[in-house]
Amino acid sequence: MKAAVLYEAFKPLVVEDLELERPKEHEVLVKLTASGVCHSDLHYMKGDREHPMPVVLGHEGAGIVEEIGPGVTYAQPGDHVVLSFVPTCGKCSYCVKGRQNLCEARYGLRGNMQDGTTRLRKGSQEIHHFNGLSTFGEYAVVPEDSLVKIREDAPLDRVALIGCGVPTGVGAVINTAKVRPGSSVVVIGTGGVGLNVVQGAVLAGAEAIIGVDIHGGKLEHALQFGATHLINAATEDVMEKVRDITRGEMADYAFEVIGSTEAIKQAMMTTKRGGTTVVVGVTPAGAELTIDPDFLHLDRVLMGCTYGSCYPRADMPMLIDLYMARRLKLDELISATFKIDDINTAFEALDQGEVARSIIRY
Ligand SMILES: [Zn+2]
Ligand SMILES: [Zn+2]
Repeated sequence: MKAAVLYEAFKPLVVEDLELERPKEHEVLVKLTASGVCHSDLHYMKGDREHPMPVVLGHEGAGIVEEIGPGVTYAQPGDHVVLSFVPTCGKCSYCVKGRQNLCEARYGLRGNMQDGTTRLRKGSQEIHHFNGLSTFGEYAVVPEDSLVKIREDAPLDRVALIGCGVPTGVGAVINTAKVRPGSSVVVIGTGGVGLNVVQGAVLAGAEAIIGVDIHGGKLEHALQFGATHLINAATEDVMEKVRDITRGEMADYAFEVIGSTEAIKQAMMTTKRGGTTVVVGVTPAGAELTIDPDFLHLDRVLMGCTYGSCYPRADMPMLIDLYMARRLKLDELISATFKIDDINTAFEALDQGEVARSIIRY
């Protein structure tokens, strides 16, 4: 099968033919229809984060189950699925307490499948998996626990985005922060995930939804997703404008969706007494955040967030239902579609801040 391989950081992906072994116990072979191109993949390509190499990246995919390995009970060939980059085992202490996004199974993978081996190879060379998924290939062998079955009338190319960007952004609002109706919300960074924070705030019934970015084009896009105000941080004073918009109070909630410590600080500064800041962006490994703890004294909260605190098998089908009912936007998130041969062009566009989300269609 054709796949895109990262052999080392700072080098382009190599699109080539790889061998993919058949699924072993509790694994499933999925024929992918589409994969989103996400900033988290770019972090490994740019050396911001480390991973065993070579690796097939990609963690935002959807497709159809082609073959099941021994012991699989959740899915059958022909099932339509979205892939979750956190496998949820259902048995660990996190899963049983409803914190499936923190499932222990996530930490046992380390570039391999759950048994510590890989199904991907190029000749005699083993190629690593990424989060048990590796969606930058025409097919993927994934853990059964990474599958989320979805309704068959949902368009499989669009719902690939339900694998990462959408639950991360919408979930940060609904699950992590639990934004209350009538709230004021600041969203710093209106790229692919930020737009989902914006539409999550709409679903939560926020009154003011303030999009902040330095790219004018991205910022404009936020209006389409329900932002009520825009601030261009390159030319305007963010604090001043948030103060104006919130009639001097500052915001109830701020979401940082860039992955920069400066932006996290800025997000916190836009919150009122008792306000909550949620860090959604992924900062480079080793980054350090310096804040004046005095700022937290007035009941302010600083929260982390992974995968929108979601339970993939409950939240992803729910998000697809909202999309099918036209309450959630997916089509508008996709600014470009590429073939896998052009995947490096897709990443260049993402790196330059030109696109909200592009997808690779197989
Ligand atoms: Zn992602
Ligand atoms: Zn678990």
